[in-house]
Amino acid sequence: MLDCAIIGGGPAGLTAGLYTTRGGLENVTMFEKGMPGGQITQSSEIENYPGVTGEITGMDLMMPWPEQCQKFGLKHEMVEVTNVSKNAEGNFIITKGDGTSEEAMSVIVCTGSTPRRAGFAGENELFGRGVSTCATCDGFFYKGKEVVVIGGGDTALEEALHLAKICSKVYMVHRRDEFRAAPNTVERLKSTENIELVLNAVPQEVYGDAMGVTGIKVTLKDGSIRDIEVPGVFTFVGNDVNNGVLKQADGSFLCDMSEQGEVKVNLSMATSTPGLYAAGDMRIEAPKQVVSAAGDGAIAALQVISYVDEKINS
Ligand code: FAD
Ligand code: NAP
Repeated sequence: MLDCAIIGGGPAGLTAGLYTTRGGLENVTMFEKGMPGGQITQSSEIENYPGVTGEITGMDLMMPWPEQCQKFGLKHEMVEVTNVSKNAEGNFIITKGDGTSEEAMSVIVCTGSTPRRAGFAGENELFGRGVSTCATCDGFFYKGKEVVVIGGGDTALEEALHLAKICSKVYMVHRRDEFRAAPNTVERLKSTENIELVLNAVPQEVYGDAMGVTGIKVTLKDGSIRDIEVPGVFTFVGNDVNNGVLKQADGSFLCDMSEQGEVKVNLSMATSTPGLYAAGDMRIEAPKQVVSAAGDGAIAALQVISYVDEKINS
């Protein structure tokens, strides 16, 4: 029986792992389907994590986190969790993708979110062949070439700025003429010479040949179509909450959720189900920052330590 099962190994899960183990729980496993670190490892630059100065990638930032946790006894299993349910004894059953399961007294779910598809023609067909959601991963392929970036949030603008350092030109395609991104990021975008803003432009169709993408057509405000010939299209149009592990056989969720599919928590990161906590980007009103995800993980872990202690002594 695990004291605590942590689902997801991003900043929230890793911090929960650090605090639960360092706080005295001896049997804690973090289930992470890939390499620990979470979605920030896709970021080419992070400059708002307190105390970390200079140019640093998301990968650099996250590199030491797993080692720090393991020092205090956190176990890591590289497996996808498919379901979390509660049994008659009030414990949780963690079902894994390999068909096996584990029992845990408490659970902290930190599965974050996944990049959304924009929904234009050709996007799925050419995904991985010129259409990408990761500039750090794929930007290098377009060194010295022109690319299109789609979106108007922090991710799109930051990644456009990163791509502008590698590529000869970046077309910033956004469906409105105002950006959601932070004002200083918008300023940096506007003052970057090799970024052209293509505003009030709705992506219609990405097209290509056997080798991959060769261009994208966007519809402008006056109804005309602009054809931009590029070999690479990067989409950054938001993320979907990874809440699937909480879905039960009857279609309900293990705890209360918001209409957008985020987990409802209180200030202690406790859900409506005793012993189940949620932390990071998947919870309601998440600021969607590394520092807040880590903070959530610490809060949830401190609550779990008390919960497990009470359960053992009751
Ligand atoms: P995530 O980081 O999403 O981690 C969730 C983890 O759970 C993943 O590793 C995933 O593999 C795992 N997982 C999911 N489902 C399962 C399952 N069923 N079984 C097992 N494992 C599972 N924030 C900042 O503060 N500053 C920035 O500059 C910044 N830049 C960003 C740039 C980009 C390109 C992106 C995408 C995000 C950026 N963010 C930034 C936001 C930041 O990355 C997130 O807020 C943060 O990573 C959220 O942490 P998390 O632990 O909640 O979730
Ligand atoms: P986001 O803020 O939700 O922005 C998504 C953008 O994509 C919006 O501009 C949206 O347009 C556009 N869009 C959505 N669907 C589209 C479609 N089908 N076709 C074309 N465009 C579409 O997502 P995000 O930028 O990934 O950021 C997510 C969260 O992480 C935010 O809270 C953000 O602040 C945070 N984050 C922070 C940092 C940082 O602090 N440095 C960095 C990255 C992310 P509209 O504007 O018209 O809706």
